[in-house]
This record gives sequence, structure tokens and C-alpha cells, in this order.
Amino acid sequence: MSKIKIAELFYSVQGEGRYMGVPSVFLRTFGCNFRCAGFGMPRGELSTEVNDIANRVHYYKTYNELPLVSTGCDSYASWDPRFKDLSPLLEVDAIVERIMEILPYGEWRDEHLVITGGEPLLGWQKQYPDLLEHPKMKGLKEITFETNGTMRLNKEFKHYLGEWTATEWDREITFSVSAKLPCSGEPWEDAIKPDRVVDYEDCGYAYLKFVIATEEDLKDAERAVEEFRAGGFKGPVYVMPVGGVERVYNLNNRAVAEMAMRKGWRYSDRLQVPLFKNEWGT
Ligand code: SF4
Repeated sequence: MSKIKIAELFYSVQGEGRYMGVPSVFLRTFGCNFRCAGFGMPRGELSTEVNDIANRVHYYKTYNELPLVSTGCDSYASWDPRFKDLSPLLEVDAIVERIMEILPYGEWRDEHLVITGGEPLLGWQKQYPDLLEHPKMKGLKEITFETNGTMRLNKEFKHYLGEWTATEWDREITFSVSAKLPCSGEPWEDAIKPDRVVDYEDCGYAYLKFVIATEEDLKDAERAVEEFRAGGFKGPVYVMPVGGVERVYNLNNRAVAEMAMRKGWRYSDRLQVPLFKNEWGT
């Protein structure tokens, strides 16, 4: 039976993007090809905040006990190998059982599934069909992959996604592509990959979602959108404020909303920050 290494599995309200406000099961897989240590840092500098936490990793028995960070990747424990023991490798049956426990009616109704990370398209494309074909997953209608937009879909998985949406008329796959700008600390040529995102558009609905704070970030987003459009991407563009903690989020959410209005792009909030303080499991 297939196994997936799961960093978190919880039920909450989707706080970002197209499904903002929709009750959702979040399946956070382990592993990412990026580090994004530049978030919240002066341009060109990388955060080392997580190192102190990693040095004390043996104090933390569960994922939910880990401290939040204000700089770098706010999901650090979902890919940093120093925290890998907090993410169990679970059989598909066990994952589905846990999903049924956290759904309010013990079955899929109007809830949507968010497969997130880490980078959910990095390591588990072969395992997802086993998960989605489980008899108890039959009622699921909508899935979002929250991806950084750099992973190719393998041929078999692409074919499977086509079949999954074809079998029921109201099923839909969404790719929420949070392409990383230079403020993340990741190099442009590794992060902006229009051909991958155009490929996602072949299998479902895809949109770009840029995390920004400053006018300089906005200029980077404009340049990235030009490259994605030149590559054939047709979907909408969202911008979302930097800020895994409320103090940082409050500093720039209004400015980012105004930038979105100026550009005719969509604004995405981070509802999990004001609602739940971005705690693990929200
Ligand atoms: S791509 Fe996402 S999960 Fe990976 S390091 Fe960057 S912010 Fe974190």
C-alpha cells in the first residue's frame, strides 16, 4: 500500500486564494525543493531564525509545539530534514481514516481538499491516485494543489487527473501557484517556470499568487507575470501580503491590497493570520 510522509493533516477554513473561506482539509506533505530564507529579511539577506529551533528540536514532541517564525519559510518543519521525525510516513488507509475523523459529518460534503507542503508535487505524484481512489474519498469534488510552480507533472499523474475530473461532471482541480520572487531568496531562473504552469492549466484551473511587501516586489511580480504570459499562461494573478505573524501581516496588507487594485490583479488575504494567529493546524 502507498505511503505518504505527512507533516500536518487538519481541518480549517482556507485562508488564501480562490477558495478563501471554504471549509477545507489540509494535507501537508513533507519535502520541498526550496528554502525561501529571504522572506521578511532585508533584500539579499537570508534568515537563520530556524537554526535556534532546530538546535532544540529534541524538546518538541509534536509538530504543533514548534515555534512560529517571523522570517524565512513559515512551514519550515514541512521540509527541513532536521524536523523530519515529526512527520510520520503514513499508509493511505491511515490518512483516509484521519480525514474521515476530522470532517464534520465523517464524509465529504461541501469541503475541499488542499494538498500543500512543502512542495506537494515534488515527491508524491505516484501516491496521490491511491489516496484519491480510496472508496471513502469518492465524495470529494474539489482539490487544490498549493505549489511553488517548479515541478513537472509526470505523464501518468497528468493522465490520472484528467480521468479524475472526467468521471464526475462537478469535480475540479485547482493549482494555486505561489511562484517565488527574489524576496524569497530563491534565484529567479529556478523559481519562474512558465512551461510548468502552462502544463497545470492543461489539467485544471491555475492561478498565480505572489507574496509581496514592497514596490520592488511588485515590480518583480510584474516582470514574472510578463514571463508567464509570454509562455502562454492565461489564468488570473493574485498578490498576497508577506506575514506569517500578525505584526508583519498588519504592516503591509492594506498596501498590498492597493497594489492589487492598481494593477487590476486579485488580492488574497491570509485569513489564518488574523483568525488563528497562523498557529500550526490552521
Ligand atoms: S516553496 Fe513554500 S514550502 Fe517551500 S520553502 Fe518556499 S515557502 Fe516554504
